[in-house]
Amino acid sequence: MSRRFSASRVRLAARDQWPVVLPPMSIRLRLTLLYTSVLAASILVFGLALYALLTRALDSEVDQETTSRAHEIAVGIQVRGDPPADQLAVTLPPTTSMAPDTFVQVTDARTGQVVARSSNLDDRQLPLQPETLSLARQGQSSFETLRMDGQRLRIYNLPLLAKGRVVGVVQVSRSRATDDLLLRRLRLLLPTLAALALPVAAGLGWILSGRVLTPIEEIADSAAAIGRARAFALRVVHRGPLDELGRLAATINTMLAELEAAHRDLAVAKTDLEHTVAGQRRFLADASHELRTPLTTIRMNAELLRESESTDVSADHAKALADITDEAERMSRLVNDLLILARADAGQRLTLRPTPLRPLVEVAYRQAQLLAVGQEVELGTIEEAMVLGDADTLRQLLLILLDNALKYTPDGGRVIIVLCSVTGHAHLTVTDTGMGIVPADLPQIFERFYRADAARETSGSGLGLAIARWIAEQHAGRIEVTSTLGVGSTFSVVLPACLTNSASLPEPLTFR
Ligand code: ADP
Repeated sequence: MSRRFSASRVRLAARDQWPVVLPPMSIRLRLTLLYTSVLAASILVFGLALYALLTRALDSEVDQETTSRAHEIAVGIQVRGDPPADQLAVTLPPTTSMAPDTFVQVTDARTGQVVARSSNLDDRQLPLQPETLSLARQGQSSFETLRMDGQRLRIYNLPLLAKGRVVGVVQVSRSRATDDLLLRRLRLLLPTLAALALPVAAGLGWILSGRVLTPIEEIADSAAAIGRARAFALRVVHRGPLDELGRLAATINTMLAELEAAHRDLAVAKTDLEHTVAGQRRFLADASHELRTPLTTIRMNAELLRESESTDVSADHAKALADITDEAERMSRLVNDLLILARADAGQRLTLRPTPLRPLVEVAYRQAQLLAVGQEVELGTIEEAMVLGDADTLRQLLLILLDNALKYTPDGGRVIIVLCSVTGHAHLTVTDTGMGIVPADLPQIFERFYRADAARETSGSGLGLAIARWIAEQHAGRIEVTSTLGVGSTFSVVLPACLTNSASLPEPLTFR
């Protein structure tokens, strides 16, 4: 498992705690969060802009209306008397009180006394600030926003002129209660709409992104299934147009086609190789087989010539004949060994049947005694042991071990054969007091043609133990060696014991 933690996947739970690895966020969830955040930001910007524009529009509409009303009323006002000598007395035009949320009030500029007001004001007065009054006295109009009876009022203050002089102030005011109500509702409506729209948008986003991603998941699933089954002849199915997904499916299919071709080439190459190897094995087996007959003929004839040696045959002639016999014998053994291994490689089957080992050991013991040249061959413990095996090849295995033991043990040495039956296994050991094997050679002595340096002075081909191992494996067993240089070696063959006696097993079993 990778030890690298990506920053986005890891959050430290606390400074001194192990990092907590969060599962990666799915693309579907990320897309949904993205949609929803973009929508939330859009609603916020739109809402703020709408609110600001509406406020400005309402403000300017109120200002325009109060200004034009003030001028209209100022033109229609009748000033009575002769201010400033007299107290200002005015008559408002009859249309003054037509709009219920518009209030009009006229104040004497000199005294600050209210001299007239629209009937909808009842007994209330529009506020008039001293600064506003002094501006009006200077002939300047002004706007102000004030509160009266809990309502916001927008007031336009216009100087009232009579005979070119400022005699009063005409105040036209409009209540902002309706506008404020509208803006308050808007302030409430926008967040409510957002609160309703966002979950709906998130849900729709989740469904839509699921729909968009389903074909990708299908493509990934079919590619994974094809990979698992190694069915490279299959293709990823995509029924949509040749858009991004279509191109992805097409690219995967192109790769699958390449993979299929490579796989096919590989299979063809493998079959070719198998044919070649099988052909070589057959050739080796055939060659070994064919060589056996002429070699035997050569050997027999050379021996015949040697035996019928007459006095007129020279010593050189006799030596040459002896060499021919020896070499022919050596080659015969080599060819025999090669034939066994070639047949083993070609998958030769042994026919296994319940076989008692003890008689085989006794025969091999007697043969070894004949082969011994000064060594003592002994039988150690010999127990009864039955295995499922092939008597000929098992005898051959024993002879290989005994032949080696005698070959690599000098005169006066000992070779001991032991056969034990231990917990469902037959243990066959051949121990010698010979030259022993260098530890570095031990793992290799079962390889074909391997001969330890110390063994090169003796005759041999390096194939004996390879054959012995093959025979042990054919019997579902194993062969092991322990050796001490200069002290001797022990070769052990362990075979599974066969508990059935031969009479109760009608058909021989064939093992590969
Ligand atoms: P060969 O005996 O024909 O050389 P083998 O395959 O039978 O071939 O044995 C391989 C090698 O293992 C031998 O060359 C020898 O070095 C070593 N070897 C086998 N048996 C013994 C033994 N009993 N004592 C010492 N060395 C042995």
